[in-house]
Amino acid sequence: MDGKPVRGCTLTTQEGLNVNSQSATSRAAQQEGMDRVLNRHELYCTVCEHNTGDCTLHNAVADMHIPIQYYPYERKPSEKDHSNPFYTYDPDQCILCGRCVEACQNVEVNETLSIDYTAEHPRVLWDGGTQIAGSSCVSCGHCVTVCPCNALLEKTMQPDAGPFTAMPEKVKRPMIDFVKALENSISMEPITAISVIDTALRKAEIKKPKPFAPIAAWGAASKSGPETGIF
Ligand code: SF4
Ligand code: SF4
Repeated sequence: MDGKPVRGCTLTTQEGLNVNSQSATSRAAQQEGMDRVLNRHELYCTVCEHNTGDCTLHNAVADMHIPIQYYPYERKPSEKDHSNPFYTYDPDQCILCGRCVEACQNVEVNETLSIDYTAEHPRVLWDGGTQIAGSSCVSCGHCVTVCPCNALLEKTMQPDAGPFTAMPEKVKRPMIDFVKALENSISMEPITAISVIDTALRKAEIKKPKPFAPIAAWGAASKSGPETGIF
């Protein structure tokens, strides 16, 4: 702003504000920010259930035309939690944005979710650290709808949300590892282009959800939101 780098989320609009989000300094800051996010989240979009056109993270990466990821993705020690009947939580894919916590604490006021950012490996916690099943979670689904990636994901989307998502893990994992290695030599853009095509193919098949449908109707619904859609 006015030639100085400022975080967008700290800005208040005002008359005469001079904002340039495409200067070299801004672009470098955006790349650094996204790199730090991708250090926590593995991109495998074409084989990911969440690449339905509404994945905020995928769409941001595609829009930014990131040439290469500088900080490699680092796996975390916690296991994926499948214990709720309607949704899963995958700490390995969680970018710790806190949206789910905000929805649970301050919108639904159920006060189940939290994140201890001082922990060695922060993750979303249910009632301070129990399994989802048996916690005070009422399965309202609000957290899942605000999650910008596949960290919180409806079970009805797993595993067959896209043409390649249902392939067995023993096939999927080597494929992801191969594409990641390729990405470092040919850049991310061609890989991203494939996932954008995959998004378009899936969108034709998507049945739009009923926004306030009860949990029992979580059937063919997928997260809805803005357009776009990496491997
Ligand atoms: S589609 Fe979204 S959630 Fe899935 S790997 Fe890509 S960025 Fe991550
Ligand atoms: S909204 Fe999703 S990515 Fe963000 S902290 Fe919650 S589970 Fe993690």
